[in-house]
Amino acid sequence: MSVTLERIDTAPFGAATHLVCRACGAHAKLGADYSCWECFGPLEVAYDFGNVTREQIQSGPFSLWRYAPLLPVPANIAESRNLAPGMTRLHRADNLAKALGITGTLWVKDDSGNPTHSFKDRVVAVAQSAGIQLGFNTLACASTGNLAHAVAAAAAAYNGHVIGIEGNYDDVNRLCGELIGEEVSADWGFVNVNLRPYYAEGSKTVGYEIAEQLGWRLPDQVVIPVASGALLTKVDKGWREFVELGLVESKPWRVFGAQATGCNPVSTAWAEGNEVVRPVKADTIAKSLAIGNPADGPYALDAVRRTNGAVGDVTDAEVVEGIRLLAECEGIFGETSGGVTVAVTRKLLAEGLL
Ligand SMILES: *Cc1c(COP(=O)(O)O)cnc(C)c1O
Ligand SMILES: [Zn+2]
Repeated sequence: MSVTLERIDTAPFGAATHLVCRACGAHAKLGADYSCWECFGPLEVAYDFGNVTREQIQSGPFSLWRYAPLLPVPANIAESRNLAPGMTRLHRADNLAKALGITGTLWVKDDSGNPTHSFKDRVVAVAQSAGIQLGFNTLACASTGNLAHAVAAAAAAYNGHVIGIEGNYDDVNRLCGELIGEEVSADWGFVNVNLRPYYAEGSKTVGYEIAEQLGWRLPDQVVIPVASGALLTKVDKGWREFVELGLVESKPWRVFGAQATGCNPVSTAWAEGNEVVRPVKADTIAKSLAIGNPADGPYALDAVRRTNGAVGDVTDAEVVEGIRLLAECEGIFGETSGGVTVAVTRKLLAEGLL
């Protein structure tokens, strides 16, 4: 899928200053690097934000680009040049709260309102911007489905080359890693491989929006579906940034993770008290969460431990019940990941953890 190149040479990555290794802290230049030269640890974007105000954000576009000052994108990123996902509704789910026996207020972040109906449009938008700045001319990805939709739409193709692999997501991911540096794919930006540091930052916008939509407040508890673990890690990171920038009042929050029992490496590590996440072979209907070897698994566990949360998993039958419950109570027809989240919420409540 080809994208039009339009490089913006002043501060092409906004307030981002460098990449930093999450394992050993080594620094790297902003580029198409994703693993540390010193220790092979995952690289993450680091910033020098300066002053960012609520007014500045609120006067921005009604999309995730209102948070451009907090993302590795040009400050003057042109909203009209991409699908501008984000600012999906935060739905007050009173019927579901009642069905689950929740006495407090329950909100559902309904990211089905994005251009290809999942939060993957957010991460692709940020990865695409980085890919253009870095001179790639083709967008690619390893995907179980949702990410491929988002990539195809963002590249304005919706008719990309789909290469089926005999194997699971983890095999595809490994193949993509092998393609990087090969001549045939030298111009390809793999959004979740060599553009991964930028891609992952897009998930922070889920956290930013929840806080802004709650009236610049943080929730007490949040349940987040976990595949690679990036979404969970970055929602927590986004809230820490909001606190540091003085955009919300500091308060404790608890982060809970949700997986399907047929692919539960993070939930298992949590239950066994392990620091490391042992890979599993995925076998579940929750395809959007079917990553057996999650790149951000240990960092997701860190966030859950630090915030006094927990990780749970549910069977495929419970996933279907969760989808049905959400649809019946709130009129939101989620995919399997939504079913996992509702069903794990129910389970955590029953266990007295939530
Ligand atoms: C990809 C995906 C997730 C999991 O995201 P990670 O960042 O890989 O943990 C959750 N829900 C939906 C709908 C997804 O498409
Ligand atoms: Zn390192």
